[in-house]
Amino acid sequence: MSDNIVAEEVHVDGAQDAIPSPEEEPPSPWAGVSRQDWEDWRWQLANRIKTVDQLSRVVSLTEGEKEIISHSLNTLRMAITPYYASLMDRNDPQCPIRLRAIPSMPEIHISHEDMADPLHEDVDSPVPGLTHRYPDRVLMLLSDQCAMYCRHCTRRRLAGETDQPRTQSNFDAMVEYVRQHPGVRDVILSGGDPLTMSTERLEYVLAKLHAIPHVEVIRIGTATPAVMPQRITDDLVAMLKKYQPIWINTHFNHPKELTPRAVEALAKLVDGGLVVSNQNVLLRGVNDCPYIMKELFQRLMQARVRPYKMYQCDLSMGIGHFRTTVAKGIEIMEHLIGHTSGLAIPQYVVDLPGGGGKVPVDPRYMISQGERVVIFRNYAGKIFKYVEPEDYRSQCPTHCRICQERKARGLDAEKIGLERLLDTDEIML
Ligand SMILES: *Cc1c(COP(=O)(O)O)cnc(C)c1O
Repeated sequence: MSDNIVAEEVHVDGAQDAIPSPEEEPPSPWAGVSRQDWEDWRWQLANRIKTVDQLSRVVSLTEGEKEIISHSLNTLRMAITPYYASLMDRNDPQCPIRLRAIPSMPEIHISHEDMADPLHEDVDSPVPGLTHRYPDRVLMLLSDQCAMYCRHCTRRRLAGETDQPRTQSNFDAMVEYVRQHPGVRDVILSGGDPLTMSTERLEYVLAKLHAIPHVEVIRIGTATPAVMPQRITDDLVAMLKKYQPIWINTHFNHPKELTPRAVEALAKLVDGGLVVSNQNVLLRGVNDCPYIMKELFQRLMQARVRPYKMYQCDLSMGIGHFRTTVAKGIEIMEHLIGHTSGLAIPQYVVDLPGGGGKVPVDPRYMISQGERVVIFRNYAGKIFKYVEPEDYRSQCPTHCRICQERKARGLDAEKIGLERLLDTDEIML
């Protein structure tokens, strides 16, 4: 087939693009790289795969795929660490590592429900880069750079735009916002990936946040343990430890990513005294299977990482091909709850388009209610009844310190949502 014919076919229907027949493993493009370079995260960043030519030395690509990749480079850039690329299956286009990293034809397709900023992160942003949606916590996007750009990225609107951290004056403005909002007790650092910044630059922000008395915890969202585990150095861990309590949220989507090298990086964080949890996205063709998910979560638990949230794929532009129905997520939860360790089960959430925030979705276990009885079905499908107490009234002691403090701080007046409906005489919001 000539290049022309393949290119034409792609314009008609990408699915007809021929899958190449398996190739002999050619020598690794990194055969001559020293162990010292390979283990240096700056080397990994500097040597990311960014062009079709570089990529075709790692995996066998059809002419059609090559053309698609060059096109998609105009939307969300491609940049793949040598480490992550080295996990790719050369001959299998459905390899989960490839699907996370390599642009594909459907990214060009925008469906009518797609939005640039489905979570209204920019709308609910009082300072550039900072989103304040929930009462007691804020999200800070410190950098638009990632070690590797995930094709299912929800922040495609900004990820990789400059491939750089934000400016110091922008950091200062975000920190100042937190300082002036005493209700903020939890600050989430994300991006981009904060761990693509230098340890010094990250410390600059952490030290300032840590010095604010009302900031009780700092969270760092990072995919580096999965896509560039070399970033988890002793120096980094020693720096982070100075600003405890810090929670690390990482991003593994498939058991194939839990390589011995990745597990080693996770162990370094945990042994260093950091709490590590995982957030994953439910992705069509990657992990939309209860057994893949169960293996992922069980292996994370073994690595001492707590699966925290499983996200329904957002309505961001050009990622429609990754979306599943919500029913698929519920089916997966049905296979997990009761069937495996509770600690290996994340909460399944939909982050509502339009800035509605995250809502949990579960299979239904409470199937009916009568006078003083609640009827449940369990994970095995059996039906049980729970009998409620006869004369229950909550006995909230009026002298309880917690409510007294709340009153003193005027927090009762700030109740929002159903909390307000439940705790006041109002009958409508
Ligand atoms: C997800 C998110 C948070 C944190 O939510 P948790 O449920 O506390 O993990 C905070 N702010 C924004 C804008 C978010 O999207």
